Amino acid sequence: MPKLNLSQRRNKPVFSQVSDTNKLEKLLTPRFKRPAVRLTPSPYITEKNITKRWEKLTSLTDKNALLDSQSLNDADLYNKNIEHYIGTVKLPVGIAGPLRVNGLNAQNDFLIPLATTEAALVASYNRGSQLITAAGGASAILLNEGVTRTPVFAFQHLADAGQFVSWVVTQYDHFKQVAESTTSHGKLHDININVDGNQVYLVFEFHTGDASGQNMVTIATNEVFRYILEHSPIEPKDAFLDGNLSGDKKPNAHTMRHVRGKKVSADVHLSRQLVEKYLHTTPEAMVKFGQMTTTGAALSGGIGVNAHYANALAAFYIACGQDAACVAESAIGMTRMEVSEQGGLYACVTLPNLMVGTVGGGTSLPSQKACLDIMGLHGNGKAKALAEVAASLCLAGELSIVGAFCADHFSRAHQKLAR
Ligand code: NAP
Repeated sequence: MPKLNLSQRRNKPVFSQVSDTNKLEKLLTPRFKRPAVRLTPSPYITEKNITKRWEKLTSLTDKNALLDSQSLNDADLYNKNIEHYIGTVKLPVGIAGPLRVNGLNAQNDFLIPLATTEAALVASYNRGSQLITAAGGASAILLNEGVTRTPVFAFQHLADAGQFVSWVVTQYDHFKQVAESTTSHGKLHDININVDGNQVYLVFEFHTGDASGQNMVTIATNEVFRYILEHSPIEPKDAFLDGNLSGDKKPNAHTMRHVRGKKVSADVHLSRQLVEKYLHTTPEAMVKFGQMTTTGAALSGGIGVNAHYANALAAFYIACGQDAACVAESAIGMTRMEVSEQGGLYACVTLPNLMVGTVGGGTSLPSQKACLDIMGLHGNGKAKALAEVAASLCLAGELSIVGAFCADHFSRAHQKLAR
């Protein structure tokens, strides 16, 4: 029998199942028996629907763990946020800070709510926040804003696509009027065109006020999309409302240098003494770590270079009623560290895709609003500040985790706090 190499050995359990063709066929054959359990046809939250759903679930799990009295009393509040409601999942929320932010829009010492089941996470952001605050705070600037929807149109030939584009460029003012008829806060501020043979992608980019804006731009773009289908002098063969150029919930190289949501840069200067006191390492070690792991990031084919923005953003988004799935695009960007002229550490982060809002989405649900209220960042006029706080929080996390690797504390901290 020939010797298996390492990767063949790793896949052996899968190969051995596949080689039993009878078993495989039995397992993978479609089954047409009616499912024993069916959902209520209506997805809405009513007492009757909740009772009916639980008739089917009580034999499977502990009802009180999901539908406690508050989840039942507050049920109506969730009607615009969920279908087929059966209760709430409780997540622990920790607090990190104070994190001093000296931003263009955010100016405060912020206590930051983070919802997670991951031990060591809040401790790490707390340490980074306190370090930044001891250094006088993080500077932060919101650099750019924009949320896109990108309809796509297919024609018989490139020549038809060209004719379509020559009509589109005469219609910008019209498109703006049509799009903005659906929203009082959304503003269409740019239209880009991408031609790919007989296909044309239109990139509609909006400012969305204090909403993160995914729904707003979908509704507004849909209105323009309908207008185009009705008025275009060349009829498209096929057309879809989004051609996947928007970067919605996908990391992508284009928005790394452009923007999706809000683009923020934040930085801090730390003295050598502060690095030693809070992180138990030196600026030189942290810069060396940065150089070597930047090579690692390039080798892994990542978009940008960062240590763990996703940890901050997932816990922050969940606590604050943001769409957690947007961590997919938000958690890209650049972290950079240098030894400063004074022998301290300069550190900066730039996150081009912060999908955050302080109105709409889940921001007005009871516990999510309470989390935004802790920071004074719920409601009108607060979204830009929320983005600057999010970026500063990521900076705190980068300092803390790089410090932990350099001081050889990373594994120890997890062992102590998570085991
Ligand atoms: P939204 O709750 O759908 O819309 C925001 C609402 O707030 C709008 O009705 C807007 O009114 C109003 N508003 C009041 N004051 C505002 C202010 N100061 N700034 C901006 N708007 C203000 O929220 P959204 O942010 O557009 O959508 C976010 C949700 O969409 C997220 O939960 C996300 O998961 C979900 N989502 C949707 C899609 C999609 O394509 N439908 C895709 C991904 C995610 P006006 O519009 O009249 O100004």
